[in-house]
Amino acid sequence: MATITVAKGDGIGPEIMDATLDIILAAGADLQIEEIEVGEKVYLAGNTSGIAKESWDTIRRNKVFLKAPITTPQGGGYKSLNVTTRKFLGLYSNVRPCASLHPFVHTKHPDMDIVIIRENEEDLYAGIEHQQTDEVVQCLKLISRPGCEKIVRYAFEYARAYNRKKVTCFTKDNIMKQTDGLFHQVFEEIAKEYPDIENEHWIIDIGAAKMADTPENFDVIVMPNLYGDVLSDVAAQIAGSVGLAGSANIGEECAMFEAIHGSAPRRAGQNMANPSGLLQGAVLMLNHLGQNEVAEKVQNAWIKTIEDGIHTYDVYKEGISKERVGTKEFAQAVIANLGHKPTTLKPVSYANATALKLPKYQRKAPARKELVGVDVFVQWPGLNPDELAQKLTGIQPQQVELSMITNRGIKVWPDGFEETFCTDHWRCRFKPVNGYTMTKQHIIELLSTAEGHHVDTIKTENLYAFDGKQAFSMGQGQ
Ligand code: NAD
Repeated sequence: MATITVAKGDGIGPEIMDATLDIILAAGADLQIEEIEVGEKVYLAGNTSGIAKESWDTIRRNKVFLKAPITTPQGGGYKSLNVTTRKFLGLYSNVRPCASLHPFVHTKHPDMDIVIIRENEEDLYAGIEHQQTDEVVQCLKLISRPGCEKIVRYAFEYARAYNRKKVTCFTKDNIMKQTDGLFHQVFEEIAKEYPDIENEHWIIDIGAAKMADTPENFDVIVMPNLYGDVLSDVAAQIAGSVGLAGSANIGEECAMFEAIHGSAPRRAGQNMANPSGLLQGAVLMLNHLGQNEVAEKVQNAWIKTIEDGIHTYDVYKEGISKERVGTKEFAQAVIANLGHKPTTLKPVSYANATALKLPKYQRKAPARKELVGVDVFVQWPGLNPDELAQKLTGIQPQQVELSMITNRGIKVWPDGFEETFCTDHWRCRFKPVNGYTMTKQHIIELLSTAEGHHVDTIKTENLYAFDGKQAFSMGQGQ
C-alpha cells in the first residue's frame, strides 16, 4: 500500500478532491491518505509560502502528493505555492496529456492526442530580476545542461513507456543561441540514443502555430519552462477545455499531481465543478505508483461517462450532452462505469506505464575556459553613442580596448544608425588588444578607472571561450 499526501485546497478544491478520491478508492486504489492543509488559510495565518513547515515533512516522507487547486490571496508578498513546491522538491518535469474526446466534448481537433512535457525549474522562472537603470529592468534566463538533459531524456523515456512514436522539441534558438541553443543541442544529442522514436525540432513560433492548427501531427512535445507554461494551456483548451486536463510534476525523489485549472472560487460549495482535471492528475499518479490496472480502470470509466453524455455544466452542450450533473453525481456515474470501457472513443491501455527511472546526471569534465573580454553595462543619460565611446576609450586600461557598444542588444557603435532608439542602458564590450591576454585584473582596473571618472557601471558580464569556442552572443548587427 502506498501512503500519499493529499491537500484539498481552496474554492472548488475540497469538492473535486472528494469526488476524485471516491472514484479512485472505489476502483481499488491501494492507498493510505495523509491530509495536510495548504493555501489561503495558511497564507492568511502569516505563512507567505502557503504551507506550514510540518507539511513539508509529510510531503517529503510520503513522496507522492495529490494537490487540489488553491487560492493565492490578492496583494503582495505571497509566493506561489506551486512554483515553491516544484523547486524545493526538484520536480523538474511537468507532464500534461491533452487528448480530445470528440464528438462528446466540443473541439475543432477531433484527432488530437498530445503530451506536453515542460521543463519545470529553470528558464525565466528562476525569478532573478533587477531594475538596472531608470529605464531598464532585466530578468535572467538560466538554462543548464543538467536541466536540459533531464527533461529531454524524460520525454524520450516517456514516449517509450507510453507507446508514443515521436518527440518534438520547440525552442527559439534562432534568436537565443546560447540558452535555447543548449536545449536544442541536448535534444539532438539525446535523440540519437532513441533511434526507435522519431524526433524533430521546430522554432517555437511556427511550431506553436502548427500545434494550434493541426495538433494531430504532434505526439510528445518537449520545451523549456515558459513556452511550456503557455502552450500546455493552449493545448488543453483546444483539446476541449482546461477543466479536463491534469498534470504530473515529477522529480527524482518526489512527485506532485494536480488539475491544471485554479480554485474557481465563484463555483465553490455549489456541487457544480467538474472533477475531471484532478481525476486526470490522479490517474497519472496511479500510473506513477505502479497501480496501472486501477489507473486504466478509472480512465476507461471516465471516458465512458463522458461518452454517455453525463456532463458537468462547463462541458454540457445541448444536442451533444444527455444529462447535466453536479460534481457528486458525475463521480457516482464514473463509479458506476468502473469495469466498463468506452465504445466509440478508444479505451486506454497502460500496460507499460510506470514511474520512469532515469539515470542520474553525470557531470562532464570541465572544459578549458578562457577569459576573452568583458561587457560592462553602464547607465548613461546621453543619446549619442559616439560621445560615450569617446569617454570610455579615454579611460580604458592599456592592453584592453572598447570594441563595441550596444543598446538593448543592437550595435550602436561603431557605425550605428541614427534611427536606432536608445535607452539609458548601454552594454560596452571590451576586448584585449591584439597579442595580449585578458585577465580579471584588467576588469578590476577598468571598473576602478570608470568609477574615478564618474561612469555609472551597473554590472559586468565576463566573456568566455570554452574549449576555444566563443560562448557569448554577438551584438545585433555586428
Ligand atoms: P480558474 O482556473 O480557477 O478559473 C477559470 C475559469 O474556469 C472560471 O470561469 C472557473 O469557473 C472555470 N473552472 C475552472 N475549473 C473548473 C472546474 N473544475 N469545473 C468547472 N469550471 C471550472 O482560474 P482563475 O479564476 O484565474 O483563478 C482562481 C484562483 O485559482 C486564483 O486564486 C488563482 O491564483 C488560483 N489558481 C490556482 C492554481 C493551482 O493551485 N494549481 C492554478 C491556477 C490558478
